[in-house]
Amino acid sequence: MDTWIRGGLVVTAKGSFRAEIGIEAGRIAQVSSHQKGSAAQVLDAEGKWILPGIIDAHTHMELPLEKAVSADDFTNGTIAAACGGVTTIIDFSLHRQGASLEACLRDRRRAADGRVAVDYGLHAEIIDIGQGILDGIPRLVQKGVTSFKLFLAYRRDGRMVDDGAMYAVLKRVGQAGGLVLVHAENGPLLEHLTDQLLKQGKIAPVFHARSRPNQVEEEAIRRAIAISHFARGNLYIVHLTTRQGLRAVQNAHSDGVAVWAETCPQYLLLDEGAYLGSEGRDFIATPPLRSRKDQEALWRGLAQGTISVISTDHCPFTREQKRQGGESFAQVPSGLPGVETSLPLIFSQGVASDRLTANQLVAAMSTNPAKIFGLYPTKGSLEVGSDADVVIFDPEAEFVISAETLHTNTDFSPYQGLAGRGVVQLTMLRGLIIAQNGQFCGPSGYGKFLHRRKFEPDGCQLWPTG
Ligand SMILES: [Zn+2]
Repeated sequence: MDTWIRGGLVVTAKGSFRAEIGIEAGRIAQVSSHQKGSAAQVLDAEGKWILPGIIDAHTHMELPLEKAVSADDFTNGTIAAACGGVTTIIDFSLHRQGASLEACLRDRRRAADGRVAVDYGLHAEIIDIGQGILDGIPRLVQKGVTSFKLFLAYRRDGRMVDDGAMYAVLKRVGQAGGLVLVHAENGPLLEHLTDQLLKQGKIAPVFHARSRPNQVEEEAIRRAIAISHFARGNLYIVHLTTRQGLRAVQNAHSDGVAVWAETCPQYLLLDEGAYLGSEGRDFIATPPLRSRKDQEALWRGLAQGTISVISTDHCPFTREQKRQGGESFAQVPSGLPGVETSLPLIFSQGVASDRLTANQLVAAMSTNPAKIFGLYPTKGSLEVGSDADVVIFDPEAEFVISAETLHTNTDFSPYQGLAGRGVVQLTMLRGLIIAQNGQFCGPSGYGKFLHRRKFEPDGCQLWPTG
């Protein structure tokens, strides 16, 4: 055996138990009540938890927006991920008007291959369906890109699709064995509300939230569900933030409609009060932060299984970038850092605060995204044969979040000063220790592109039925 991890509590989506884990050639080779034979390396996990590596299914490394590029490139952002216990990210292949999906995928892989510190996959954005785009979908599925992203907002940036295009993509992707991710905000409605506010001179950060009220999300989720059902598609709602949107997903589940949902730490931990502070613009993200009532609904949605995944929508900007565009909320680049802090924060505010069990955390942050995105059981599992993507986690150690000690390339953390417990002690990717005690120690570019399998909805019945 190359490595034994000894004395830890193994925490999986199904249960928790004491076991010694043997690792050979980058895979889990033994899960046993006692160490069998010697090993080149023995890691002591006494008093610690052993989790499957976290999968962050929604990140935006070096994302070029109109006014700024997100502050983490693939190298830096995945080093931050590794330090936070994340062993797989799924980022996005960016679709340019008029370009084929395959050309866009090639470009994005060129940017990431050889530079990532953790394993990565890509979802493919689709911003228009002209010029044979739909025919490119099955070819991308063959190349291991089995999920496609649509925006129901950002019309003025040329990224919004209309309902006809949404229907066509849902249908085609469903036939090809893929899943459609939808950014569910009603673009024309929020543009109208934004214009009204700006006309009245209401430009402060709090009006970012007013320009995108809960109903903007609720309507888009309901519409996406209806159209996906009609198209016999497989639908995944990214960054669900509202109690109304949650209810729509619940209703769809009772009707037997294939829809999955994710939410993010910022919607579970932060609320719209942040926009009223002097640093309000630093918190601008899309969708906006919501009310406490919404937060509590989202925690319940996770505990009940209506929401299957916690991802981060990691898209950091520096304070300077957030201020470049001037005074108006509408000019602030939208996004928050998250990939490095999600596990400790969700443990601390979820598990240690009795809102989720440890097993539910592992389900939402590792096993469910592995199943939904075609990576299970290679990822998201600690069974024999799975990749040895392992986190040794100290549930008692205390932390205080500080932007200065995080690896993400921004001088701002939305959780600055927040204290809690639950610290990542060690992160292992395919048998290799890549981060320890908050420091990256892996080789550069060890992460690889993940050729994901087709979506199998029957293997993904992750919500409560009956
Ligand atoms: Zn996003």
